[in-house]
Amino acid sequence: MPESFENARALILDRIRTLPVEDVPLLDALGRALAEPVMATRDLPLFDNSAMDGFAVRTADCSGKQSLRISGYIPAGGRADSLLEPGCAIRIMTGAPVPQGADAVVPVEDTREESGQVWVDSPVRVRDHIRFAGEDMKQGELVAGAGSVLRPAELSMLASFGYQSARVHRRPRVAILSTGDELVELGQPLPDDRIVNSNSWSLAAQIKELGAEPVMLGIARDSLASLREKLAEGLKYDALITSAGVSAGDRDFVREALAELEVEPVFWKVDIKPGRPTAFGMKGELPVFSLPGNPVSTMMTFDQFVRPALLKMMGHRQLFKATLKARLLQAAKKKGGRTQFMRVSLEVRDGQLFVGSSGDQNTGILRTMVRADAIAILEADRNGYEAGEEVDIQLLSLPMY
Ligand code: AMP
Ligand code: MG
Repeated sequence: MPESFENARALILDRIRTLPVEDVPLLDALGRALAEPVMATRDLPLFDNSAMDGFAVRTADCSGKQSLRISGYIPAGGRADSLLEPGCAIRIMTGAPVPQGADAVVPVEDTREESGQVWVDSPVRVRDHIRFAGEDMKQGELVAGAGSVLRPAELSMLASFGYQSARVHRRPRVAILSTGDELVELGQPLPDDRIVNSNSWSLAAQIKELGAEPVMLGIARDSLASLREKLAEGLKYDALITSAGVSAGDRDFVREALAELEVEPVFWKVDIKPGRPTAFGMKGELPVFSLPGNPVSTMMTFDQFVRPALLKMMGHRQLFKATLKARLLQAAKKKGGRTQFMRVSLEVRDGQLFVGSSGDQNTGILRTMVRADAIAILEADRNGYEAGEEVDIQLLSLPMY
């Protein structure tokens, strides 16, 4: 019995463990998930400072028409120990420490200056244009939780707190094995009756996009001996992905070869279209994904099954692509009983998201995958959709941060 889409995904994730942690230099952590929470090591900002170029003042001195004597100057990087006397103003630059005694900063645009005196033209309130110590983050507060992705903003925050490295989970090394007698490696002479092994490239790219490390093992031929040898090599990595050879053809030996290598079968068919002949097994801690060979099915099943598994290995909290709602531009036919993935193009009309088929949905048609912006997920229990109905969509390419 084929598994439902949701069950298949749950069966996989249930078996996946996170990889050990490592500390990596800050920039190398971009796009990776934190293995443990990061706390603010101090107040941010550390000291009260000016948000504008202008004058540090006592608001009590700014109520009348009288001028203030300019008694000093504090540039950014200046000392924090100056004192503002009553009746005076200190010229101050953005980011400079606010002198003791001052309770506001007046922007230079709101002042007039003449012979060492300054006139404040607009009303000034206590705390105006001062950034207070700890107003951004307080010491001990959570900066980012375990499993959250380090984007440029998080790296900036970590740097602000003095972190030179981040603790993340090790990247999985993911072996990719293509199978088929008809395949020829890219760069090799291509006879008329052969096809280029393109799946290794789409898979490697998808793995790389997630921040994991692809390792291409090349091509296994459609014989038990060839598969056994190549699969055994693949079992030395953190995860193994094969493509093709898992359908019902008379040379589809992948499952048999995996059984010989004592890979425990977990499931071997899923009620989805495309991608029904998707199989999953475990060899100890190592997950083995056997994906179908049609290039579109390979990519789609990677996205739905392998992607969340690799993200879990890397300690990510968000394992699934965010789904958005969009309205169908045309009716969509489908059979009941299977979750269907439709390649769609996006359109925004009057601020509302619409999707339409990107063309021929046959699994053999790669062109419509290239033209697609997103995948619409048509639910298993539906027999079809009318134009204008809302569906869930997932964007095809997303950066990890
Ligand atoms: P199979 O599952 O072995 O029947 O393969 C299904 C289809 O996918 C066949 O048309 C294969 O030629 C094609 N295919 C299999 N492996 C690859 C690959 N590595 N790159 C491109 N196409 C492939
Ligand atoms: Mg084949």
